[in-house]
Amino acid sequence: MSDDAVNITPGMQHYIDKAAKYLAQRDDYIQNTVKKWKFDTIAVHGLYSVQDAIEDYQGAIIEPIFMSSSQAYRDSDEMAAALAYMIPTWCYSRIANPSTYYYEWALALLEGYGFDGETSCCSTSSGMAAIMTAVHPFLVHTGSDAFEPRNFVATAQCYGGTFQHFTMRLQHERNIEVRWVLDPTDLDEWASKIDKNTRFLYGELPSNPQQGFFDIQKVADLAHSHGLPLICDSTVATPALLRPISHGADIVVQSATKTLTSSGFGLCGAVIARKNLVSKHSDDALKADFALNVKYLTNRDNGPNLHPMQAIMTLNDMRTLRSKVDMMSRSTMAVAEFLQNHPKVESVQYLGLPDHPLHELASRYMWLVDAEHDAQYGKPVNRYGHLMSFCVKGGAGNTRDFFDGLQRIWRATDLGRIKSVATIPAISTHQQQGEEGRQLAGIPANMVRLCVGGEHPDDVKADLDQALNGIGKK
Ligand SMILES: *Cc1c(COP(=O)(O)O)cnc(C)c1O
Repeated sequence: MSDDAVNITPGMQHYIDKAAKYLAQRDDYIQNTVKKWKFDTIAVHGLYSVQDAIEDYQGAIIEPIFMSSSQAYRDSDEMAAALAYMIPTWCYSRIANPSTYYYEWALALLEGYGFDGETSCCSTSSGMAAIMTAVHPFLVHTGSDAFEPRNFVATAQCYGGTFQHFTMRLQHERNIEVRWVLDPTDLDEWASKIDKNTRFLYGELPSNPQQGFFDIQKVADLAHSHGLPLICDSTVATPALLRPISHGADIVVQSATKTLTSSGFGLCGAVIARKNLVSKHSDDALKADFALNVKYLTNRDNGPNLHPMQAIMTLNDMRTLRSKVDMMSRSTMAVAEFLQNHPKVESVQYLGLPDHPLHELASRYMWLVDAEHDAQYGKPVNRYGHLMSFCVKGGAGNTRDFFDGLQRIWRATDLGRIKSVATIPAISTHQQQGEEGRQLAGIPANMVRLCVGGEHPDDVKADLDQALNGIGKK
């Protein structure tokens, strides 16, 4: 994988042969061992094996944090082979690093769990860097015409940063048109926005904060019938509840900052792609292994790389992902039911509630992974994650009153934490896009986004109750 052709010397060939043997062994370990494990085992170990530890890492049972800018080589042949990407390498940490490597493999395997094709992953410094990494390669010029029109189709209900990136960075600054889908459950609306200049379809689900959802398989089929890839932002679900690639999506972006790093220790992102994805506008190398391609070429040149320290902190949080998401989803359900019956609350948006208009659709896709193999459940179980939103009666003023009265729940523009966190999207995450943009995305001024953490749900409910009852009493 290289921009230029390289002359292979006999010395280089020696390293290439050695690497081929190593890669065959690794592939065997993945196919015959790791891929046979259940989700929890993969989350705990990923690709870090006893053999790796003993041979390369002094037997350390935890993946080491390699805080090194670069790797040294035995001789010029090894260096030449490494820098031409003919052998696996850590050459320079903007490109590759052992710590980010184990993080990438864990996510590739978790997002690819239950999928019978192959997946790979490119780590990024944040969720926004993941989105940039995923979408930009499809927007390159394909002909000699520098002014060829380009567009893409995306769900209007999306994270505020994504909305800004698509409207400001791509549309206003680069003249690449974003065509918003207002009702992503309407396949005709998606179809009506695709033309010969469309480069990809993009959807966030469940969306943050409105709980938008769509039929992944149908939208993927539509994309593929036009030779286009479907990119999904699956941050809110995490692979513990939803793995879009196994439903036809080509690429998943994760703001690993959120539930994947529930401790809140920092920012982190990932792009996970199926091998041999669909994209009629792209070259064969990009399609064959999108994630490795963007890692070794695009991101080498752009530099949105992940720090090794953060990679291992996130990896460490991911080990218990399934049980954590299960627990927090159950608590969120209890809190949603409580709020639904509260006299100060106008409406509750949570996909787990049977009267949510998208409940039935979401229930076809959102399952706690491996519940059927869990002694506690022994059968498939729906779970809907720990993000919900609700609207407070009496408008923006009452909403701020309630918000200011919260005592245990943190007021912060954050989600995915082991600690419960609330925000008012209209004055925070979705403030930049203005009233019109908020209307498009369905963000009223009295909406509160709540992400329920690992506390006992009774304590979360008690805090919400006292804050709601305190409205107008200051
Ligand atoms: C937070 C978030 C992002 C952006 O991720 P960062 O890590 O903050 O850059 C993207 N998508 C969704 C759904 C998010 O919640």
